[in-house]
Amino acid sequence: MMKQWMAGSALFIASACAAVAQTPWQKIQQPIAGPVQPIGSYANGCIIGAQALPLEAQHYQVMRQDQHRYFGHPLLIQFIQRFSQDIAQQTSGTVLIGDMGMPAGGRFSSGHASHQIGLDVDIWLQLPRQRWTPQQLLHPQPLDLVTADDKSVVSRLWSRDIDTMVRQAAEDPQVARIFVNPAIKQQLCLDAGSDRQWLQKVRPWFAHRAHMHVRLHCPANDTQCVEQAPPPAGDGCGAELQSWFEPPKPGVHPVKPKPPVLPANCQALLDKHLL
Ligand SMILES: [Zn+2]
Repeated sequence: MMKQWMAGSALFIASACAAVAQTPWQKIQQPIAGPVQPIGSYANGCIIGAQALPLEAQHYQVMRQDQHRYFGHPLLIQFIQRFSQDIAQQTSGTVLIGDMGMPAGGRFSSGHASHQIGLDVDIWLQLPRQRWTPQQLLHPQPLDLVTADDKSVVSRLWSRDIDTMVRQAAEDPQVARIFVNPAIKQQLCLDAGSDRQWLQKVRPWFAHRAHMHVRLHCPANDTQCVEQAPPPAGDGCGAELQSWFEPPKPGVHPVKPKPPVLPANCQALLDKHLL
């Protein structure tokens, strides 16, 4: 059911993209000054007081800096810093950071439904041992880890680095969910030993063939950040995962969801900053 709904949502996003070139959020070039405050939900919200991820760092590199999508909640900045440091210690590889959020969060014109409140980051599932050149960072080549039939990972591209990265992120208490392609989740399930609790946070999702999308919890006791319900109990390696590999049921058509209404505090922020 959930899967069907999201298929509809993906359609909605695709059709919205065709009609709308830019969202108003893309016109805001700097974070909104003020005490840090994520407002709304991951897929419909904004953020006051976001910070830029430092672009020069020892253990990670930031791709597509020209897109200006390297802003987030300070908790997200801290997560990226400790994650990449831990990964560098375990593997000596450099973490590649993709999209975070825009300076004031909000909706992108393409590519994402979420990443709107500064608590989501895309991290690529490859760990170069040599730092990438500015040219490589500007035009990054994703590694498609999933076979053309979507049923499994490409074994020649799979490495233990990937298990290490996803597990490291999943075991971080600040992380709420991680989205990866179903074939990637399947491989993580196969590789995991008896300690499988961390797999609960790893959720199968459309696309995500070359990166993991890491989503943090709302800050504790926050009143305006809308947390998602926790993932179902268990490691999620059974029937639910298998359902992703089955053909869609005949006669079931995704319903096009209505565009969500922006939280009032985000609308007020837009009105004020885009006069
Ligand atoms: Zn993402």
